[in-house]
Formats: sequence, structure tokens, C-alpha cells
Amino acid sequence: MKITKHMVPSVTYTLMVDGEVVDMAEKDKPLTFVHGIGAMVPGFEKNLEGLTAGTNYKFTLSPEEAYGPYDEQAVVSLPISTFMVEGKVKKEMLNIGQVVPMQDQNGNPMNGTVMEVTGDVVKMDFNHMLAGKELNFAGEILEVREATPAEIDHGHVHGPGGHEH
Ligand code: ZN
Repeated sequence: MKITKHMVPSVTYTLMVDGEVVDMAEKDKPLTFVHGIGAMVPGFEKNLEGLTAGTNYKFTLSPEEAYGPYDEQAVVSLPISTFMVEGKVKKEMLNIGQVVPMQDQNGNPMNGTVMEVTGDVVKMDFNHMLAGKELNFAGEILEVREATPAEIDHGHVHGPGGHEH
């Protein structure tokens, strides 16, 4: 079976960025996903399209095919009061490099990384950690099966390596 829309591939992968391994999945705990519904970054799905079990793959994604270019506008300075909970600044949230779950004006969840704390101002970077980066993927297609109607409906994989519900 080939990887096409609404198939569920099980794949190993190693993700290298700037010469370092930032993420991986091995044979005992492979990555599984419903293909063709935007579960993965566009370039990842495009490069796996049409491959079959037993195939080794290797490709490089430009930022545009992955998490997008780095956006200077997404670096913002916030008053430290933004981080107050019950009248107190949560200092333990404000370590440099720490990722803080926040919300935009519309209540959508977004992660910000603490870049700098100067007096009452916190500089946060809301870019994805991999924005502006070239992603180097390599791995093997272990298995390809059809997604169940429920998996297509939910947009995620059920069973081993997926949601249990
Ligand atoms: Zn589900």
C-alpha cells in the first residue's frame, strides 16, 4: 500500500536541525498519523506521498515547507503584570528559554518563549521553535494501512501510538 490521503503510515524518523538531532521516533514507538489532512507540516506529507512500507527516506524541508519563516513581528515586549496570577508575578515562569503557554487576544492558545526579562518588561518570542529553520528528516516507512472512518473523522490515529478513547 502506498501513502496517500487517508492512509495511516507508521514511520521512524530523525529530525536534524543545524546539525543537531532535535527529535526522533524509533521502531518501538514509531510516528503514526492520518495522511493528507494537515496533521504534519506540508513538506513532510508531500515527501512521503506515494512511498510504501520498507522504504527508507531522506529529505530536507525549507522553512516555507515546514514551520514558516522567522517573523520579527512575533517578538513582543509584554508588561510583567501579564504574568501575574492572583496578584503575584509567577517568577518561576520567567526563566530565559522557558516556553510559556499563553493566549492571543482572541483566546487562541499560543506558546511564547521567554527571551529576556528587564525590570518590568518581558520580551517573548511567539515564533515556533523551528520557524526559519531547515529541517532534515530521515527514516523508514514501517507500515501503511487504511485509516478507519473514526480516525478520519477525528483527525488522529487510534490504538497503539495514537489516542486511546
Ligand atoms: Zn479519536
